[in-house]
Amino acid sequence: MSETLNTVILGSGCSGLTAAIYAARANLSPLVLEGHEPGGQLSMTTLVENFPGWPEGIQGPELIDNMRKQASRFGAQFKLAHLNKVDLSTHPYKLETTAGQICTRTIIIASGASARWLGLPSEQALIGHGVSSCATCDGFFFREKEIAVVGGGDSAMEEALFLTRFASKVTLIHRRDGFRASKIMIERAIAHPKIELMTNTVIDEVLGVEEKEVKGLKLRNLATGDVSTLPISGLFLGIGHEPNATAFAGQMDLDEEGYIRTVNNVITTKNGVVIPGVFASGDVQDRRYRQAITAAGTGCMAALEVEKFLEAYNH
Ligand code: NDP
Repeated sequence: MSETLNTVILGSGCSGLTAAIYAARANLSPLVLEGHEPGGQLSMTTLVENFPGWPEGIQGPELIDNMRKQASRFGAQFKLAHLNKVDLSTHPYKLETTAGQICTRTIIIASGASARWLGLPSEQALIGHGVSSCATCDGFFFREKEIAVVGGGDSAMEEALFLTRFASKVTLIHRRDGFRASKIMIERAIAHPKIELMTNTVIDEVLGVEEKEVKGLKLRNLATGDVSTLPISGLFLGIGHEPNATAFAGQMDLDEEGYIRTVNNVITTKNGVVIPGVFASGDVQDRRYRQAITAAGTGCMAALEVEKFLEAYNH
C-alpha cells in the first residue's frame, strides 16, 4: 500500500458508475472496486425503457458500458476486486480487498443488492444445474423446454415474459393471490399464450438433486393444502433482492432488512454518530424506489458529498 486515495467506490452498477463520473470530473481520481457482480443489476437485464434520454429504450449492458466509458474518460480507475473487511473506526480507512490493502480518505458504498433465493437445500444444490436467478443470462439454455418462474413482482413478470422467447411454456408461481407487479406487466403476462399463472402456491422442493439437473417442482397449494408435482427443466427466481451490506454489519445503522440507513447519503453508527467520509448510494440504501435512475441520482449525490467532505478535510 503506497498512497492514500481520495475516494474508493464500492460497486460498479449504475450508482457506483455515476458516482465515479462525478468524482472523476471533480479531479478526485476515484478507484472503483467492481465487486462480485460487475455492472450490477442493469448488466443482467435486457431493454431498459424508463431511463430518461433513450426514447426507444436501451439495453441494460449497453447503458452500463456507456457509463463506464464516461467515467474512464475523466480518469476513474477500475479494479476487479471486492471488499473483504474494513474498520470504520479509524480514519483514513484501510480496506482489506481481494486486491490487497487500499487506504482511502472517503468511501462510497454502492454495492447494490443481489438476487434473493428461496433457501431450500434442493434449490441451492441445483444452482447452475437448472436453477437460476438471471433469465437474461441463462434463458438461452431452455429452448423449447418447460420452465417455471417464482415471484409476484415486476422482476418475476419481466423474467417470465423474457423467457417465452426460448421456453415452450412458462409457469409463474406466486405464493399469494394478488400480485405486487405493475398493472401493465401483469396484463402482459396474463395475455401471453405461453405463460400460465399459478397462485397461492409455494415450492417445497426442487426435484432432480440426485440427477444433478432440475426435473420438476414439488408444489403446495396454500389455499387447499394440495400437494402436486410440476415437471419442468428450469426454475428462475424472481423474488426480489438482498442488500449487499453484510460486510458493514455492526459498524453502521442497518434497517431490519439489512439496507443501510442514510440521510443525504450520510451514514451513522447505530448510536447516531456520523461515520466521517463514508457515504452510501443506490440500492444498498434504497428499499423503496430501486430504479436505475434513482440509483444514478443518489450516486451523483454521494460523489458531491465526498467532494464537500474532502474540501473541509483538506482545509
Ligand atoms: P418485489 O419485492 O417487488 O417482489 C418480490 C416478489 O417475490 C413478491 O411478489 C414476493 O411475494 C415474492 N417473494 C419474496 N420472497 C419470497 C419467498 N421467499 N418465496 C416466495 N415468494 C417470495 O421485487 P422485484 O424484484 O420484483 O421488484 C423490485 C423493484 O424493482 C420494484 O419496485 C419493481 O417495480 C422494480 N422493477 C421494475 C421493472 C420494470 O419496470 N420493468 C422490472 C423489475 C423490477 P409477496 O408479494 O407475497 O410479498
